[in-house]
Amino acid sequence: MKPNSGTKKELDESVQGTTLTLSENSKNTRKLYIESYGCAMNFSDSEIVASILEKEGFNTTQELAEADLVLVNTCSIREKAELTVRKRLEKFNAVKKINPKMKVGVLGCMAERLKDKFLDEEKIVDMVVGPDAYKDLPHLIQEIDEGRNAVNVILSKDETYGDVAPVRLNTNGVNAFVSITRGCDNMCTFCVVPFTRGRERSRNPQSIIEEINDLWDKGFREITLLGQNVDSYLWYGGGLKKDFEKASEIQKATSVNFSKLLELCALAQPKMRIRFSTSNPQDMTLDVIETMAQYENICNYIHLPVQSGSNRILKAMNRLHTREEYFELIDNIRKLIPDCSISQDMISGFPTETEEDHQDTLSLMEYVKYDYGFMFAYSERPGTMAARKLDDDVPEDVKKRRLAEVIALQRKHGHYRTQQHVGKTQEILIEGTSKKSDAHWMGRNSQNTVAVFPKEHYKKGDFVMVKINDCTSATLIGEAVAYSKNN
Ligand code: SAM
Repeated sequence: MKPNSGTKKELDESVQGTTLTLSENSKNTRKLYIESYGCAMNFSDSEIVASILEKEGFNTTQELAEADLVLVNTCSIREKAELTVRKRLEKFNAVKKINPKMKVGVLGCMAERLKDKFLDEEKIVDMVVGPDAYKDLPHLIQEIDEGRNAVNVILSKDETYGDVAPVRLNTNGVNAFVSITRGCDNMCTFCVVPFTRGRERSRNPQSIIEEINDLWDKGFREITLLGQNVDSYLWYGGGLKKDFEKASEIQKATSVNFSKLLELCALAQPKMRIRFSTSNPQDMTLDVIETMAQYENICNYIHLPVQSGSNRILKAMNRLHTREEYFELIDNIRKLIPDCSISQDMISGFPTETEEDHQDTLSLMEYVKYDYGFMFAYSERPGTMAARKLDDDVPEDVKKRRLAEVIALQRKHGHYRTQQHVGKTQEILIEGTSKKSDAHWMGRNSQNTVAVFPKEHYKKGDFVMVKINDCTSATLIGEAVAYSKNN
């Protein structure tokens, strides 16, 4: 298993750098080439950007050489992510020599982290736009059209883009992301996100429901509610989560938390499958698990990053829970939703991590036996508390060896979990043709495990009951027996 592969939460390596396209608007004359890296939030943001620019006369293109505007939506989470973008900028530079009218803009977390350093260091960049400034793009593009460099990296207290209907880029027409919160208040010591995406704020539930209804009408059958920390969702009329205490009594009384939002979504479209990502163990409450158990259309899958199995390291990471509290949460999930799949994010080689801490991580994994995992070697990020206070003191070869052990154990557990579906008949939502065979459909069960089966008369977007006969390490192999009652 690759360090970050497996589900749509942190998009798998194969889609990193994907050029995103949408259908052409015949009135538009300029060409936008937009490439995205990093987490699902970034891919979702690119849809907001494309929606804003469609109204500014841009159609998307996959041909770099013919682009008037090249945008790269960037990720800062690990050093490698930033190096990839720097390489792409070199490539854009080469193309710019052939096509001098082409303008290049950097969007997202790296734009926010490096700000106008980008204009000084990377001479080929014309525009730098942080994650909260996309509505300013029409003005910024005018600036660069007139020959000036343009920067807006102002982080906002209330921007949620709730009023921008995102266009769907490279969509299969079945699954879509719906953003519900922006920013993060958690201050995990390893993480750059609070600095690049700002403080946490939640989107108006009304606009979330409207987006879900619209997606259903357009034929989408599964949505993933997105946020850095979805369990922390709290709508009280707008504004930062941290200012909730200052809200009026009426605002507090009518506020909507994550479990309430989940329920509103489940009821708004009872046949739409609902997923969410990412959950933080310290914020996930019992009522969220109870709501999941209550509504059939909320999928039985929780992405619950833990990062380490050692209490000492969890504390140093400022993760506000212990290993024992995490086990209690896992036990509650298993009690209320026995067939729930659970996935993790794990970091190997955080500063001061000893062999004993690493063994604690492996033993925590043994307890949970995760279905999927996203595993990384610690990468020091400038400006974070860990970078300021702790030496990156675990040697690279030790980090790599520990990461390999974590990945090997995850592979074993992933295979074990996949096997547990064999012999069952499960509802699969068809997402498209199998990559390996034109005669087979590919879809997922509620637990997010991929299944393939012969096409017969079924179509994309159908909910089908599939008898699972066999599996590989991560794919279920079956045959359709009937439409599901959800169809
Ligand atoms: N808040 C979201 C979450 O918890 O998944 C998003 C954080 S980030 C996009 C996803 C994962 O990247 C984190 O859970 C963590 O495992 C990993 N990560 C973050 N900072 C890292 C760092 N400095 N080094 C290595 N991995 C890191």
